[in-house]
Amino acid sequence: MRIAIIGGGIAGLAAAYELEKARQAGAAVEYTLFEERPRLGGSLASEIVDGAVLERGPDSFLTEKPAAAELCRELGLGGELIPSNDAARKTYIVTRNRLVALPDGLMFLVPTKLVPTALTRLFSVRTKMRMALELLHPPRPNDGDESVARLVERHFGQEAVDRLADPLLSGIYGGDATQLSAQTVLPRLVEMETKYGSLTRGMLAAHRKMRAMAKGSSNGVNRGAAIFTALRGGMQQLVGAITERLDAASVRTSTPVSGIEKTAQGWRVQAGGVSQVFDALIMAAPAWAAGALLTPVDAALGAELSGIPYSSSITVNLIYDERKIGPLPEGFGFLVPAVEGRAMLACTFAHRKFLGRTPPGKAVFRAFLGGMKRVDLLDESDEALVAIVRREMREILGAKTISAEVEPEFAQVTRWRRAMAQYAVGHKARMQRVNARVAALPGLRLVGNAYDGIGVPDCIRLGRKAARELAGAEAPIPVSKV
Ligand SMILES: Cc1cc2nc3c(=O)[nH]c(=O)nc-3n(C[C@H](O)[C@H](O)[C@H](O)COP(=O)(O)OP(=O)(O)OC[C@H]3O[C@@H](n4cnc5c(N)ncnc54)[C@H](O)[C@@H]3O)c2cc1C
Repeated sequence: MRIAIIGGGIAGLAAAYELEKARQAGAAVEYTLFEERPRLGGSLASEIVDGAVLERGPDSFLTEKPAAAELCRELGLGGELIPSNDAARKTYIVTRNRLVALPDGLMFLVPTKLVPTALTRLFSVRTKMRMALELLHPPRPNDGDESVARLVERHFGQEAVDRLADPLLSGIYGGDATQLSAQTVLPRLVEMETKYGSLTRGMLAAHRKMRAMAKGSSNGVNRGAAIFTALRGGMQQLVGAITERLDAASVRTSTPVSGIEKTAQGWRVQAGGVSQVFDALIMAAPAWAAGALLTPVDAALGAELSGIPYSSSITVNLIYDERKIGPLPEGFGFLVPAVEGRAMLACTFAHRKFLGRTPPGKAVFRAFLGGMKRVDLLDESDEALVAIVRREMREILGAKTISAEVEPEFAQVTRWRRAMAQYAVGHKARMQRVNARVAALPGLRLVGNAYDGIGVPDCIRLGRKAARELAGAEAPIPVSKV
């Protein structure tokens, strides 16, 4: 079985790793990984500058999704996994230029603790009353998709959208709460509304159930696990460890795939001026690239894939000498709602979020800009973007903390164009149509962040699963179970 993998981001790399394992175990499998850029890893890219780990893309993964940590352990990186410093976890929302901590008891956008919600400066009295009355919300049948903003607005009002849903989702997805699908992005909340009506009551019930399970379980069901897990030396460690295990002759970087054809012999792939036939194809390029390549094979499938929206974003890493800046507020950083009218969507105090990745005496700030609403920022120069971040940090944290005179010791800007898929309203229905078309094209698998989970663990899970199915180790599954 000859398999082509198109795209060397983490999804394509995870697939290649699995095929390499099968090959070494004696399976009759050959693979070629095509990556258009000179380097592998896609959005995963980190560097160590003056002893500080700087993440250009993802800085960590969610601990509750095991696929990434499992792969790291398999690759011998278990000792390199580090937890987020949750003892210091506190996130602020910029509210009228001031930092307001997210109230205690907030779970997936849902307030579950009365006193912190009543006391927070994040919401007006009117919104707090609305949150209290939400307990009386009647159950509602799940009869079609709607936006996250609409779901949150129906339960908690517009201010909860502006001050909570919007910054949390744009800080994670670079996304727009008015566009993102509630069914796909917040399926648990949609289920809770059907069952309980009130999301607060649903969340409290789920919390009670989890606590009971944790008590009943001998190992405490991951009790006390940190929310995020990172690699001590940065995400690049994962890319490096996979790459080392791959057969070098099977990996072709700087080789964009320019055409695909389905023939009686299999899948004809054109790349780097050469045309080769494969028995199967793992498409790990972003959906917009996959759509363009697959249109000649199946126009309807191509149109569905091209229709998946993507957001672009920018990360700006700044290293400061801690002696030259004032004391920072406690916690991991802040999120900026769009209603504040700023360029920054979020800023992480990276030296606080993961300990041991920054030399003593240095502070690392990781600002996130752009997203669906500020595409224009991508055209700004690096100097302009650094100046914007420094100005906004000064305005938000105060000139005593970051004064205009203090220069960062190092600044790094990375633009991520159309890198993050957006699960827009109707995504689930779109995936059903995509699944049906893919099922009619034997040997084709779609993997990556556009289908069944945006984060690194989901991309790894899909990549490995597709490879195992094709290598014959696992029964096929639809590309998405959403
Ligand atoms: C700034 C940022 C921060 C993030 N933070 C987090 C985080 O903290 N935690 C988390 O879990 N996730 C995070 N994510 C999301 C996560 O990193 C991505 O969803 C994931 O890495 C995507 O992997 P992928 O393999 O699907 O796609 P990509 O990484 O985009 O890889 C696709 C690859 O396909 C290649 N390609 C495209 N067209 C062709 C072609 N024609 N021929 C050959 N190759 C082609 C591209 O060059 C690219 O290398 C973040 C993403 C970004 C951008």
